[in-house]
Amino acid sequence: MSLPRLKDRLLALARFGALPGGGVTRMCWSPPYEQARAWLLGEAKTAGLATWVDPAGNVFGGLGADRVSPDAPVVLTGSHIDTVPEGGILDGALGVMAGLECLHTIREAAIRPARPLAVAAWSDEEGRYGSLFGSRAFCGRLDPAAIPSMAAVDGDRLVEAMGRAGFDAHRAPEAAAPPGGVAAYVELHIEQGARLEEAGIPIGVVETIVGARRARVVFHGQADHAGTTPMERRRDAFLGAADYALKARELVISRGGARAVTNFGVVHVHPGASNIVPGRAELVHEIRDPDAAVLERLARDCEALAREVAAARGLTVELRPISATTPAPCAPRVQETIEAACAALGLASRRLYSAAGHDAQNLAGVTDAGMIFIPSRGGRSHRVDEMSDWDAIERGANVLLHTLLRLAA
Ligand SMILES: [Zn+2]
Repeated sequence: MSLPRLKDRLLALARFGALPGGGVTRMCWSPPYEQARAWLLGEAKTAGLATWVDPAGNVFGGLGADRVSPDAPVVLTGSHIDTVPEGGILDGALGVMAGLECLHTIREAAIRPARPLAVAAWSDEEGRYGSLFGSRAFCGRLDPAAIPSMAAVDGDRLVEAMGRAGFDAHRAPEAAAPPGGVAAYVELHIEQGARLEEAGIPIGVVETIVGARRARVVFHGQADHAGTTPMERRRDAFLGAADYALKARELVISRGGARAVTNFGVVHVHPGASNIVPGRAELVHEIRDPDAAVLERLARDCEALAREVAAARGLTVELRPISATTPAPCAPRVQETIEAACAALGLASRRLYSAAGHDAQNLAGVTDAGMIFIPSRGGRSHRVDEMSDWDAIERGANVLLHTLLRLAA
């Protein structure tokens, strides 16, 4: 494994969609993303890999494989090269670039594992148009009927975004891998939290990946003149949304246990003028928990809370589910293999759950899947200063290499 080559590739990828003050905005199907995809295909060819792109836009580089087939089940690694707006240079990119480096190293060393290997860059992991889109399609979990209505928060439709990039969104479900085509999946990723750094442990072995529920919560009131309408006559939709946001936070903290989290990351007020009482307020509400039963209960309780808040304020409320993922356990076989690789390399490891969603949770539905985490500086992620130490990156890539070799042996 060559750290200089891995570092060069990570920094080269970071130039696509680079922001002036550091960090990157590279949302799936956008021009910088499509340039990065073309660059990645070139790098995989340079590394001596067979390359292919599936109908969901997932990019693959194969060693001993030029497609996914049950005739020769592939050991798969990968992650994603899309980012959140104003994101960092490692989220996703690390897993793809390290996977590429591992396969490059194996090919150069003329090692011939029993099973073929491949690295994947999954489309739209960050879910601009639909959460974990590419891996969902690959794992046969993409509902064709949902495709026409999949859209970004700004209204841009998936069908058009993929069309601009030269893909037919309606064909994305054809990316589904044939049953038995994947022997195992392992993904290297930054932790995006502070647990490993605070414990001084270099490697995390993921046991479970959290599930997340996202719903649009729309409060309807009455738009009125903000000067002439007496306060007691107002049916202010924004105040309903604000009241709900504060109470939902309390509910998730008090009834969810230590691992539940919730967020309101999108807020729109209509018509959105300083002299009009808001007639409609829309929130995107997200809840996450590693326990499926807890997540289900919190989602139900929050729905009841939204109706209660609306009724108390003379408003109505609509709840429209956006996405729901269930918590995914990682395969014991893959966890044990990662731990054996750590032991062989003399690295301490700790089992933990992933507080973020990942493509591995879809792969866990079709094969034995697992994840390797490395510490994130200050636990920072989904922001421009997201970083990990280069020696932590090197350790993670080495653990990935040894894990892949063991899984493919
Ligand atoms: Zn990621």
